[in-house]
Amino acid sequence: MNFKILGTSDITTCDHCGRRGLKLTRVMVPRDADGNADGEVFYAGTSCAASLAGVTSRKITELAEVADFQHAQRVEWAQEKIDTYAAAVEARQAGGRLAPFWELYRSRNTHDLIAPLDAFNDVLGWLTEARSILDRKF
Ligand SMILES: [Zn+2]
Repeated sequence: MNFKILGTSDITTCDHCGRRGLKLTRVMVPRDADGNADGEVFYAGTSCAASLAGVTSRKITELAEVADFQHAQRVEWAQEKIDTYAAAVEARQAGGRLAPFWELYRSRNTHDLIAPLDAFNDVLGWLTEARSILDRKF
């Protein structure tokens, strides 16, 4: 398919035909022959999305629901990482000791063989990714 379906939006105007007052739109992005996003994200009603993509409306709905579900799982992951680690990381960054972070990390990751500073850097990466997931705008 020449488009990737990124999910469902509560934007009510179809960028393709201009129709307004839709209940929802599907978020789409064109993609190149390798399947990578290649162009601007846009919003289309389900039937416009289907005709653009050359598939049925049912297929568009299914793809959008899968994308929405995957995003919801990522949000859950992101929120859990932030709830767990953000305070300990900020305390360390404000000049606190590494030990409280390390105890927390070890209580959550008992099978990891990792040095405390490496774990800290991993968690910094998780938090950056988590914040970008929570900031996501189509
Ligand atoms: Zn339309």
